[in-house]
Amino acid sequence: MSVLDRFSLAGKRALVTGAGRGIGRAIAIAFAEAGADLVLCSRTEADLEAVAADITALGRKAEIMVCDVTDSADFEAKAQDLPGIDIFCNNAGINRPKPIFDVTPDDYDAVMGINLRAAFFAARTMSMHMRDRKIKGSIINMSSQMGHTGAANRTLYCASKWGIEGLTKSLSIELGKLGIRVNTICPTFIETPMTEPYFKDPNFKDYALSKIQLGRIGQVDDLIGAAVYLASEASSLVTGSAVMIDGGWTAS
Ligand code: NAD
Repeated sequence: MSVLDRFSLAGKRALVTGAGRGIGRAIAIAFAEAGADLVLCSRTEADLEAVAADITALGRKAEIMVCDVTDSADFEAKAQDLPGIDIFCNNAGINRPKPIFDVTPDDYDAVMGINLRAAFFAARTMSMHMRDRKIKGSIINMSSQMGHTGAANRTLYCASKWGIEGLTKSLSIELGKLGIRVNTICPTFIETPMTEPYFKDPNFKDYALSKIQLGRIGQVDDLIGAAVYLASEASSLVTGSAVMIDGGWTAS
């Protein structure tokens, strides 16, 4: 097998949550470019239709799964009806940056509810989906550099992403004997609809740039190589790992 063949996703089917925009959209399109057919999951049908059109223009198939991933029972019911999924990108997530003194129980439930609880049960559902169909699949959990460090105004977000790292390592141990791999991608700040409001504050942008050793804010395309790598045969001995795409933020 040539090195490029090892990165091919031809004949694979991938499910991406939060696929309507931002990082999830970019990863879904990258998977299609690498040869996979897609199932696109998010809450907003119109966003998913637009991404599906981009994917069908690439000659791949794209199915839409409208679902709020915090409704874990609905996610599980819909996932059961899907044809075999080889690649699961557990990406949907939110942030409510605030000083600890202002964090409310509602903030806690919202951030932990999607970033950790929903991601946990979605990973559980897709683990069972792969186990029951004897698929030696790849689960990619969307973590963050904030799953490896701390930051002001990010107690909740960091707690959720450190949780994702623990989930990933433990799941890789339980699923290894089934040939199912589980890894995280850990981006620094990436320009997406989620981060757009942060960068309107020049002080925040200066702070971010002072921590990113490579001196620039990330773009969604900075993540797609790692996503295809983790999804493909190229990473067939990689599990329980975290791929840092942080421009050196966590090196210091
Ligand atoms: P985004 O807000 O631009 O997109 C998130 C997507 O998730 C949207 O399509 C949204 O509709 C969907 N989504 C949100 N809540 C959902 C729910 N309950 N059910 C189903 N879908 C839901 O965000 P993004 O910047 O693309 O972030 C994606 C992931 O990457 C998140 O897990 C985030 O924590 C992580 N991340 C982002 C950055 C960054 O700087 N953008 C950095 C590190 C990690």
